Amino acid sequence: MTPAVRIIGAGLAGAEAAWQCARRGVAVELFEMRPVRQTPAHQTGDFAELVCSNSLKSDSENTAPWLLKEEMRRAGSLLLEIARGCAVPAGHALAVDRVTFSASVTEAVSREPLITVRREEVAEIHGDEITVIATGPLTSEGLSQEIARLCAAGDAPDRSRAGAPAPHNLYFYDSISPIVEADSIDMSRVYLAARYDKGSADYINCPMTAEEYNRFYDALLSAQPVEARDWEKLNYFEGCLPIEEIARRGRDTLRFGPMKPVGLKDPRSGKRPYAVVQLRQENLRADSYNLVGFQNHLKFGEQARVLRLIPGLENARFLRYGQIHRNTYINAPSLLNETLQLKGHPWVLFAGQICGVEGYVESIATGLMAGIHAAALACGHALIPPPRETALGSLTHYITHADPKNFQPANITFDLLPPLAEKVRDRRQRHRLQCERAQGRFTTWLDGVCGVPCLKPA
Ligand SMILES: Cc1cc2nc3c(=O)[nH]c(=O)nc-3n(C[C@H](O)[C@H](O)[C@H](O)COP(=O)(O)OP(=O)(O)OC[C@H]3O[C@@H](n4cnc5c(N)ncnc54)[C@H](O)[C@@H]3O)c2cc1C
Repeated sequence: MTPAVRIIGAGLAGAEAAWQCARRGVAVELFEMRPVRQTPAHQTGDFAELVCSNSLKSDSENTAPWLLKEEMRRAGSLLLEIARGCAVPAGHALAVDRVTFSASVTEAVSREPLITVRREEVAEIHGDEITVIATGPLTSEGLSQEIARLCAAGDAPDRSRAGAPAPHNLYFYDSISPIVEADSIDMSRVYLAARYDKGSADYINCPMTAEEYNRFYDALLSAQPVEARDWEKLNYFEGCLPIEEIARRGRDTLRFGPMKPVGLKDPRSGKRPYAVVQLRQENLRADSYNLVGFQNHLKFGEQARVLRLIPGLENARFLRYGQIHRNTYINAPSLLNETLQLKGHPWVLFAGQICGVEGYVESIATGLMAGIHAAALACGHALIPPPRETALGSLTHYITHADPKNFQPANITFDLLPPLAEKVRDRRQRHRLQCERAQGRFTTWLDGVCGVPCLKPA
């Protein structure tokens, strides 16, 4: 039988996508370049290798990661079923024996008669073949160039926040600024203002005297960086240099860059500070703020030590530390529609980390969805995205509707789900109701609308 669907990459997303196609009676050609060609992080030739932690996140009922897994379970996810079969004790999390996990996925996928496995690197995509690109954050160089070519037809954003726009719509790095909890900021030491008083005063500004700046500068230069493994050695792009790299260019460089005080007069003194660190609201609840332009490659403990020298952040609690790491992903908001199809080439779908989601479970979930949709395409059905109220629908809605200029990959969180019609103050109760609503809608989508019925049980 001629395979109807080509799936590139047998990682978490690709293995799940192949299984979902086969379960719907659609033949698949699954390409995996390992072990013929390794990535810098994978260790084996097995499918669905977990390259770092062995955790598939919270399994506590009515949490967002649980809801996403619950939807995947209802949709017959192979990888989730295998994960449950080789779970190891990990409190509220679903953690797995990683060796058994990927060995079992490899065996199940290779045994499936409708899936033909090809151990080779793919470097060419044909827009007239149904193809799922699931080559992950470490997509090979040759294919990255091909994807850049394929995606060049879309609307390119002005400038990548996460790396060079090379050449269009494809990012190679994530640069992440640290985030602090709002109530750990000493508001008596900071002030609210927008630069040149333009717009509303939404930024928290941490002013520094020359003495404070010099102390911070010296601490930053002497802070220990993360030890880069070979494959992590980064060629930084001018648009997203780590702060310690900017600092190394001269004592005043930061004052002309992310710590520029121009247009930020302190209303209490009427004077312009020597330097300013700006904090931007992170979420609608305004309970967290990110340090604007403070991406860095320092050890977490060192970040805490150095960043607490900033006036107002002496007792800051960090929700996330700054990071810069390798990650190949496309600008999904400008390139994909909610079915994960490339707008310019509707027979090409993206899944996994490369489509702009972050994390193991999110990668498997988008693989599942791309597999269902690729099968629907092969059978001539119309594609219908999962409802917005579901975890999967919210995740794909986020990646396809976020601001393309500031797009960054996302994990599943309740922030992505639409609010309930009625306000529910109690957080646990609210999440429980959102989960109930999501499950109802997800089942309806699976039962009727998702296009191709499942022919084979999981
Ligand atoms: C170093 C690192 C650590 C991470 N740690 C975590 C973590 O702890 N927890 C977490 O939730 N997420 C983590 N992630 C993020 C993400 O969840 C994982 O990368 C996850 O494996 C992504 O799944 P995927 O299916 O998109 O890609 P992968 O699982 O990487 O699968 C992609 C597959 O495509 C193959 N491939 C690449 N190019 C080609 C080609 N041209 N032709 C054929 N095959 C190709 C690769 O060999 C690979 O098998 C990490 C990412 C990295 C890079």
